[in-house]
Amino acid sequence: MCGIVAYVGHREACPLVIKGLKRLEYRGYDSAGVALMNGHGLKIYKKKGKVAALEHELDGKETHATIGMGHTRWATHGEPNDVNAHPHYSFHRKLAIIHNGIIENYAAIKQALLKKGHTFSSDTDTEVLGQFIEDIWEHQAGASNAGTLEDAVRLALQEVVGAYAIVIMNEADPTQLIAARKGSPLVIGVGENEFFLASDATPIVEYTKDVIYLNDYEIAVIKDGTLKVVTLDNTTTTPYVHKIELELEAIEKGGFDHFMLKEIFEQPRSIADSMRGRVQADDATLQLGGLRDYLDKLAKSKRIVIIGCGTSWHAGLVAEYIFEELARIPVEVEYASEFRYRNPIIKEGDIVIAISQSGETADTLAAIELAKSKGATIFGVCNVVGSSIARATDAGAYTHAGPEIGVASTKAFTAQVTVLTLMALAAAKRKGTISDSLFRQLLAELESIPAKVEKVLQAADKIKEIAYIFTYARNFIYLGRGLNFPVALEGALKLKEISYIHAEGYPAAEMKHGPIALIDEDMPVVVIATKDSSYEKIVSNIQEVKARKGRVIAITTEGDTHLPGIVDFTIEIPKVHEVLVPLVSVVPLQLLAYDIAVMRGRNVDQPRNLAKSVTVE
Ligand code: GLU
Repeated sequence: MCGIVAYVGHREACPLVIKGLKRLEYRGYDSAGVALMNGHGLKIYKKKGKVAALEHELDGKETHATIGMGHTRWATHGEPNDVNAHPHYSFHRKLAIIHNGIIENYAAIKQALLKKGHTFSSDTDTEVLGQFIEDIWEHQAGASNAGTLEDAVRLALQEVVGAYAIVIMNEADPTQLIAARKGSPLVIGVGENEFFLASDATPIVEYTKDVIYLNDYEIAVIKDGTLKVVTLDNTTTTPYVHKIELELEAIEKGGFDHFMLKEIFEQPRSIADSMRGRVQADDATLQLGGLRDYLDKLAKSKRIVIIGCGTSWHAGLVAEYIFEELARIPVEVEYASEFRYRNPIIKEGDIVIAISQSGETADTLAAIELAKSKGATIFGVCNVVGSSIARATDAGAYTHAGPEIGVASTKAFTAQVTVLTLMALAAAKRKGTISDSLFRQLLAELESIPAKVEKVLQAADKIKEIAYIFTYARNFIYLGRGLNFPVALEGALKLKEISYIHAEGYPAAEMKHGPIALIDEDMPVVVIATKDSSYEKIVSNIQEVKARKGRVIAITTEGDTHLPGIVDFTIEIPKVHEVLVPLVSVVPLQLLAYDIAVMRGRNVDQPRNLAKSVTVE
């Protein structure tokens, strides 16, 4: 999510920062900006759209400066536009700030500043933080306790809840850059009398190989050509200078071979991000800001229709089980492309939930317009803030998974399922169809999901070995029951999309009604056989496959000693509450598809014929 670049030294800062921002473009963003300082003060230029649009904006401007910073924004608070783009000035314009992440308690801080007479020009949480730091700084000066800007940053960050990487420029000091991080990456490049700051090493490597990875809760203060690192509780630390040997090409993907792999590995974080500020298991609270005014309507609805395409449709199928199980509301899941052309029966009081990673899927948008015209209330579940679908819906919840660049969706799926689960839980709670103890238990279990996904990722090498064995299979079958049926569909879709192997997903019990005819010793069958209410049944289905010499790869629950004796390969996942199992059981299937595709030499990130955001019908 987003990119940060900053420089202070003897070079021209503007071209260096712009070049750095371009290096970070792969991360995905919606607007870009720079702050530069020279004899004419602290100047900010910013623009919605690509870095090229920003360059155009800078044409003909006086940009000479040896200190500057730039940012590519991936909007979380406020739509992507020129005003919300970073950098942001502080209230009295003494500072400029860029930020990657989310300040969760920004509303409370903003309220306090508004009371003091502050005004805000953007909708961002970032501007609030910039004003907060300046306010503390001025306040210290006013109280004549001679606080420095560094102290003010430290005191402000002690109050901040959330994730951030920030860089601050001080109009009064053209040698100073202050940076800090918690949860979002920040790398410092150390040159000869010059310093670089960036979200990853990509913009830095061509100038220096000496880098410092700032740790969470650390503040870097660059001033008069020296660097000091202090912790939030004001202890000075001695930073370790790493020598980077990575090739540019590799760091662009954060060290991963493909964006898809990077995104699979990002899931512990992206799932946590999709719950951030929403779930508080300790005191059993669940808040979905974007649904607040519509929760009653959802809880009282007679029917929910979920629409989506591809992976989003699979997330909808998972949600069907969860909504019906927890909130006891009947759910139908429709392909948006079918729904829009078949005169669907929609009544007032129906809720339509539209799911789309990009928020630009043309079929889903058209389906929304149709449902609206028939009087339905529309909720959106999108990843891209300010996207067309997000704007077209009455209410909704962003998935906050961060930009997804690999065409085959991975982290967006798990974030969608997480957010839909939260919606179902909120509806069930409001409706009174869930006991307090189950509600509490599921919130706690949700909070444990990122760690469990992390555990599955540790099996990556084992999955690679299995993938190697099946690299040249011509067909695959994926089986699952209950909530794992949509996971089987998603696993098959991943394999098709990136390896071009024909794969089919089925509810395991359906196999007898047709697909079992396909089973022979050449047919790999992936079965999601976790320990849940249908475990015994799925074991029987596995026996049926084995009796016909099919080769079974089973996704099993940790500690299952029975299945390894029956199947050819097992991949274990940690025990998860049945309702949440798709969030974990899908991960090995993503890795399996990825490994097979790589071994077959496919273009994993840009598979043939596919686009990331399907904006045409
Ligand atoms: N939360 C900030 C915003 O919405 C920063 C987003 C980012 O990481 O780019 O402006």
